Amino acid sequence: MSAVLSPVQEPVEEAAMTDGFHLVLDALKLNGIHHIYGLPGIPITDLTRMAQAEGLRVFSFRHEQNAGNAAAIAGFLTGKPGVCLTVSAPGFLNGLTALANATTNCFPMILISGSSEREIVDLQQGDYEEMDQLAIAKPLCKAAFRVLHAEDIGVGIARAIRAAVSGRPGGVYLDLPAKLFSQTMDAEAGRRSLIEVVDPAPRQIPAPDAVARALDLLKGAKKPLILLGKGAAYARADESIRALVERTGIPYLPMSMAKGLLPDTHELCASAARSYVLPEADVVLLIGARLNWLLSHGKGKTWGGKSHKDWGGQKFIQIDISPTEMDSNVRIDAPLVGDVGSCVDALLGGIGKDWPAAPSDWVQAITERKSKNIAKMAETLAKDPKPMNFHSALNVVRDIVKANPEAMLVNEGANALDFTRSIVDMYKPRKRVDVGTWGVMGIGMGFAVAAAVESGQPVIAVEGDSAFGFSGMELETICRYNLPVCVVILNNNGVYRGTDKNQGGGSDVAPTVFVKDARYEMLMQAFGGVGVYATTPAELRQGLEQALRSRKPTLINAIIDETAGTESGRITSLNPAAALKK
Ligand code: ADP
Repeated sequence: MSAVLSPVQEPVEEAAMTDGFHLVLDALKLNGIHHIYGLPGIPITDLTRMAQAEGLRVFSFRHEQNAGNAAAIAGFLTGKPGVCLTVSAPGFLNGLTALANATTNCFPMILISGSSEREIVDLQQGDYEEMDQLAIAKPLCKAAFRVLHAEDIGVGIARAIRAAVSGRPGGVYLDLPAKLFSQTMDAEAGRRSLIEVVDPAPRQIPAPDAVARALDLLKGAKKPLILLGKGAAYARADESIRALVERTGIPYLPMSMAKGLLPDTHELCASAARSYVLPEADVVLLIGARLNWLLSHGKGKTWGGKSHKDWGGQKFIQIDISPTEMDSNVRIDAPLVGDVGSCVDALLGGIGKDWPAAPSDWVQAITERKSKNIAKMAETLAKDPKPMNFHSALNVVRDIVKANPEAMLVNEGANALDFTRSIVDMYKPRKRVDVGTWGVMGIGMGFAVAAAVESGQPVIAVEGDSAFGFSGMELETICRYNLPVCVVILNNNGVYRGTDKNQGGGSDVAPTVFVKDARYEMLMQAFGGVGVYATTPAELRQGLEQALRSRKPTLINAIIDETAGTESGRITSLNPAAALKK
């Protein structure tokens, strides 16, 4: 309050005021959101300045898509919505890919974009960066809101938070027109208008009859299998999941971002026998995993079906927070709707001393397959070909991750993704983040920034040279914030590999081929980071060890055989040309 003099010279109290800028920031802080990933510009530049002044950390990126990816994975890693802030129209559109990807992956995220004035947009009068952003965002996210009045900011942010994290998490768009920021209101009334969201992601307890049905099915199984998805990792029910696996003795298979929920080296981990257990299992318990393309839609040859549409005969129990997920591909015999923690605890409640041990012939058969495959892999990994290939390079990453289990692993590419997923074991939950449900390229540096910021741990980003290109400019961001990120580029001179030929015989290189022997490490050096050019596993090992010790931004350009890599990695069958070749 400040005293001013009235015309009759009597002191009066002038009410303290607040404005739209501060109400947005206060609402975020009130709800425990202290990080903003974004890219400043009109009309949100001042908001980013004020955010810093108010004690929030603002991470400024070079492209909104990377900021959006950072926010999305921050959401996955913290269980709170990650916030991405962009300018209007083009900035908003750049952020939208990440918002859609977050929604697809069930990551909680809020994209906040400044926008043009409603009056001009609605009459299509041609404003600066005019676009009806709310309408465009709606079909691509879980929920979309616009706030027009400062007194509604508290409600707007509360609704965005609830929509992002409750039930199935996802992306939320919040449209804040430029005029909102400069609106003022009484500070006390403003403070009272803010909402601290109580219990933003309420537990969802499964129905007792659904639990009994699931237990019945599981108890009668001769070849039971547990499949862990990234929904299980997100749910943070690590101890309960471990107890379920160990008390029942049922082998489990982790999807890529569920790796490490239990250590990949656990005796019941069936990853090394994946192609055996999927068609053989008779009852499959899905925990936070969808039967989408990554699991061949629960049917076809992968599951023991005779043709690609044929059902393999398994019975499914599915734990998911979203009731409509059930039966989306095949029949779910025992749907268990609720949050993973509550559902797994409910199952544990029904697993008493009389619970039968997992059939030993089944467990034994898996162990045998596993040992054989692990021995075969060890042989391949022990080879030292010149030039390096994916295996010899990733053998080094495998050792480094084993020695540093707290480190975060970011992974994208085609072959770089497939090989890393199968070669590099994870030991702790939520340490591996990757291309997710879409298999999207471009998440790399955005994920790496947020993984470093949110975990405080060193980050190893294993990137295909093609995948890296989508977000490579964020090396500057990594250096600017001095983040402990070590990017390892598995460089084979192109998309999939570097040896394709121009089929028309012209002088242009083939569409999948890049500049030969590109010196990616110099990009990192350009911004003050450490660049390493590695042509041998020993050089790669030394570079990685040094990066983890120093925590300095580092890029290792790992040169691998340019003939290494298959077309589309392991999804060759999805390439339409593959159908022509059949
Ligand atoms: P993956 O790709 O690892 O198989 P998906 O993204 O396909 O995993 O599946 C994740 C599933 O987890 C989604 O269907 C989502 O609804 C569900 N899910 C997310 N969070 C929870 C939670 N806390 N409890 C239960 N289910 C959840």
